[in-house]
Amino acid sequence: MGKKKYWVLGGIGAGIIAFLIVIMAILTLFSSKSCKSGGDSDAGDTSSGGAGGSWTQQGTDAYKNAEAVFKYWTGKGMSGAQAAGIVGNITVEDPGFVLDQAEIGAGAEGGGGLYQFTPKSKYLTDPKSDKSWSVQNQGDVILNSAMSAVKQFMKETKGGTPEDAATVWMNTYELPAASERVRTNSARRSGARKAYEMFGGANISGSDSILGDATGTADSGSNTQNDENQCSTSSGDGAGGDWSWPFASIKNNNPGLSAEQQFGYSASRTGNFHDGIDLGDIPYGGQEIKAIHGGKVYKIGHKGYTQSDLGYYICVKSDDGYYEVYQEFAFSEAQAAKYIKVKEGDTVKTGDVIGTLPKHGSENSPAVTHIHIGVSKTEITKAEDSAFSNNGTWLDPVDLIKGGQSKK
Ligand SMILES: [Zn+2]
Repeated sequence: MGKKKYWVLGGIGAGIIAFLIVIMAILTLFSSKSCKSGGDSDAGDTSSGGAGGSWTQQGTDAYKNAEAVFKYWTGKGMSGAQAAGIVGNITVEDPGFVLDQAEIGAGAEGGGGLYQFTPKSKYLTDPKSDKSWSVQNQGDVILNSAMSAVKQFMKETKGGTPEDAATVWMNTYELPAASERVRTNSARRSGARKAYEMFGGANISGSDSILGDATGTADSGSNTQNDENQCSTSSGDGAGGDWSWPFASIKNNNPGLSAEQQFGYSASRTGNFHDGIDLGDIPYGGQEIKAIHGGKVYKIGHKGYTQSDLGYYICVKSDDGYYEVYQEFAFSEAQAAKYIKVKEGDTVKTGDVIGTLPKHGSENSPAVTHIHIGVSKTEITKAEDSAFSNNGTWLDPVDLIKGGQSKK
């Protein structure tokens, strides 16, 4: 009996201790919440450390916003890893998860929001914007204004890790300067891992429904939802016809190309080969880009955001067996909207306008410096396999234009 009494007393003591622990936990929760309201003072700190860490504390506004972002994207069909990759980026873009966060860091452009829309007006003036800065509306604006970046992200991160999703989202959507990418990549990745674990990312496998939902809202020039890797091989209905120079200012059959801009041997390139010609924004920036040969625009694709990749590329199939590709003059969604003047299915005659080459220095993020034009008798996406070897797949556009111009 005596022993039992002690047990009872011990039980009461443990109960009191447990009660005190609960009280302390509640107090901690409230105090961290009130600390959080000072989150704006983090502005200027673009690392994910410091006070931004509070998004990992359950109950804070930052936590709720981070979770809402995660749920927004999984609700659109992203996997837990993909959604966590986006959250990981916000831990760097807007560490306090303040919904209407003003520009963070040194940028003078006046960005804002969870995704640092730059400039802020890009968010406020989007047709889908209700100007509320809610998590949902910011996501809706991204889907409306940057669908091809989202599609690219979905494609590249399918089945991947949250860490890799973070890096891909940085490279397809956020697009910070190169030095920023190097500096912040690991913080984005560790933020993604944390979000993945906190919000149960492993349980959400995702679907491609986001791509289906998007049909019809994508911008001009990026409706490539059918097969991402294969150009259609249906026959083009565009006549080949003449060949001519892509810029009106080229006179006397002389485009003035430097050794590195010409087709063929190139000391500096992989495989010592350049698979087309480069025409610089000095002297051609600001001019219309004209079709060098007639045909059907059968694909407008997108690959990469730097000059060492293709960016948006326009594939044209001519009836006389040639294929032409115009690339590297538009990398971002915004640039495509501004500089590409054709859409898939269009037929162009020699000399018809394909797009515009940005004025020198006008496009720096990502930078545009030239247009690359390639010609092949092999379908373009297959010809790309030979981009670095002079095996006869790619032909010299200058030879064709010089030799193939009609005697008008
Ligand atoms: Zn080139």
